[in-house]
Amino acid sequence: MIEIKSIPIFKDNYVHALIQGNDCAVVDPGDAAPVIKYLTANNLNLTTILITHHHNDHIGGVEKLKEKYGCKVIGPSYDKDRINSLDVLVSEADNINVFGQQATVMHTPGHTLGHICYYFKNIKTLFCGDTLFSMGCGYLFEGSHQQMWESLSRLKRLPADTKVYCTHEYTLNNLKFALSIDANNKSLIEFADLIQKKRDSNEFSVPSLLATEIELNPFLRANSKSLKNQLGQQNLSDADFFGHIRELKNNF
Ligand code: ZN
Ligand code: FE
Repeated sequence: MIEIKSIPIFKDNYVHALIQGNDCAVVDPGDAAPVIKYLTANNLNLTTILITHHHNDHIGGVEKLKEKYGCKVIGPSYDKDRINSLDVLVSEADNINVFGQQATVMHTPGHTLGHICYYFKNIKTLFCGDTLFSMGCGYLFEGSHQQMWESLSRLKRLPADTKVYCTHEYTLNNLKFALSIDANNKSLIEFADLIQKKRDSNEFSVPSLLATEIELNPFLRANSKSLKNQLGQQNLSDADFFGHIRELKNNF
């Protein structure tokens, strides 16, 4: 049985850990020290690192961890020239195996052009880096809003009971924005209350459930007629309306 734990690092990043017996794989270790501390405290050996994209808050700990544990580093082939120490280059539709569990690689450009997500079908788990956040999505550093909308639309088509492990604890802030454009959405208000309570008692808001994201995350609702109407943008295409929401959030 694979267990998943999340190690908080920096101010609001998570390094998600897949654990099987004494073996461990981590996703996006932006810093080595807290990961080493966790592995040591739990008597775990690091065998694998999965990387979603080249930003430093996701790869900053990779070299140190590789040096200490000799682990295998898997990451996007697109970023082979911007990430050191990659051992396995993967791209769209590739399959990898972690402790007997198969993950499919999904190329999801938008936040960066090389960004990939890892979808573990059998354990209904998605590691989506900075593409999809709970109640938000990544900033468009490299891709266009069309690309990001297409990427998010693909994630939306995964089974609704998929657990969404994003890399950042941005949920409360994202909810403030979501409520600013959808103030009368009862389910959104209730969800915001729930997350506020969780955060007040120091619980993580991650993972979230894809079904909840599809229902309430405004960035996944760029095809919603009612949301378009509410914002007076009924003539925009879904991708352009997504771009519009992204702009509003950038200036929020
Ligand atoms: Zn990033
Ligand atoms: Fe990040």
